Amino acid sequence: MPPPLGLKISHVWSHYERIEEGDDGWWKVRCSHCHLVLRYNARVTGTKSLMMHVERCLERNLEKPIRIE
Ligand SMILES: [Zn+2]
Repeated sequence: MPPPLGLKISHVWSHYERIEEGDDGWWKVRCSHCHLVLRYNARVTGTKSLMMHVERCLERNLEKPIRIE
């Protein structure tokens, strides 16, 4: 599978913790930044949706600590 838009797919798993594998290959995974539990299926969603969440999550998290007054 070629990486979309130059993103490194393997890198996505450094942002998630795999909790458990459910039926039909659906995984419960937890974002290590906001602890949101997402569902992942390699055949259906792929890592694309996980990457999109990480990008938004990091943008959101970065906004807070940068505020220095
Ligand atoms: Zn998150």
